[in-house]
Amino acid sequence: MRHRRREPAPGVFRLVLPLPFPGLDRVNAYLLHDDEGSLLVDCGMWDPAAEDGGFAELRAAVDGTGHSIEDIGALIITHAHIDHFGMAGRVVEEAGCELWMHEAARDQLEMYGDPGTLAEEMRAMLADHGVGPDEIGELTAFEDWRPFVHSLTGATRRLEGGETFDAGGRTWTVIHTPGHDLAHICLWASDDRILISGDTLLGSITPHIDFRRGDDNPLGDYLASLAKIEALEPALVLPGHGRPFEDGAERARVTARHHDRRLGAIVQVVRREPHTASEITNEIFGDTLLNFERRLAIGEALAHLAYLRRNGEVERIESEDKKFLYKKKSRRARDIDDDDQ
Ligand SMILES: [Zn+2]
Ligand SMILES: [Zn+2]
Repeated sequence: MRHRRREPAPGVFRLVLPLPFPGLDRVNAYLLHDDEGSLLVDCGMWDPAAEDGGFAELRAAVDGTGHSIEDIGALIITHAHIDHFGMAGRVVEEAGCELWMHEAARDQLEMYGDPGTLAEEMRAMLADHGVGPDEIGELTAFEDWRPFVHSLTGATRRLEGGETFDAGGRTWTVIHTPGHDLAHICLWASDDRILISGDTLLGSITPHIDFRRGDDNPLGDYLASLAKIEALEPALVLPGHGRPFEDGAERARVTARHHDRRLGAIVQVVRREPHTASEITNEIFGDTLLNFERRLAIGEALAHLAYLRRNGEVERIESEDKKFLYKKKSRRARDIDDDDQ
């Protein structure tokens, strides 16, 4: 890839790194540089098929800014998905830098280290929700991410949100924005209203909201994170994928409306009779998705169902063959629930 110098704001350089996925072929990292040195936000994926695992590409991208990997004092990760984090161990090794991540990212790293348990939990969850045994094997064939992570380097500084630091000639505040990932953070520079948004807010696509066994209400978290961003009114958003864009508040509203519509569509599906999550996924996303895409679609449907259960619009019942079914709650049942609280 050719790397030209992209500087969407003074001292803030956008690095565009390749990904080997058909639907998602690039990821952004950002180099924040001033006289004190450099800080790197995200670092791309470790790709065993690429030259030096893709590190040569990252080095070329940093060189293109006129700065150098060796000057990086800290690598800060918006969230530990492979496309943003996979190269981290190598960067830490080369630059001898610190690694800052949200404290909840530890769970994510543990999952990477233990794909057997991860896949087992996923199989159990899909069975609970009406996915047939043959299909479960196909859907969970892609839960081992280890090839795409250089090493499971732990954070040298664990963030929780609210911390501030100086980089690229301005002060940044860490904002915890769970939803797309429980440990997701955005970086906010209030002086010139710049938001580095990771995958929480993207310009032309909506980020995937997943659901795993034991999750509480990831979509509720996500909508709250969007509201946080809307209130900040970012003038410039630097996303994890795609071009920088203006008016972050409007994009946050549009993204929230997308989920509102999907919630409404799901309520329509379960209005007359109970459905499994698998059936609901077919109704909402179509039944032609294959393997990993369908796994993601089921996760997305479950995140919406968890939200609807939480706010009392939908209830979950168990069928005779021990599968979970979802149905719209009658007004009467909702009133009784309200009295309980
Ligand atoms: Zn992500
Ligand atoms: Zn991403």
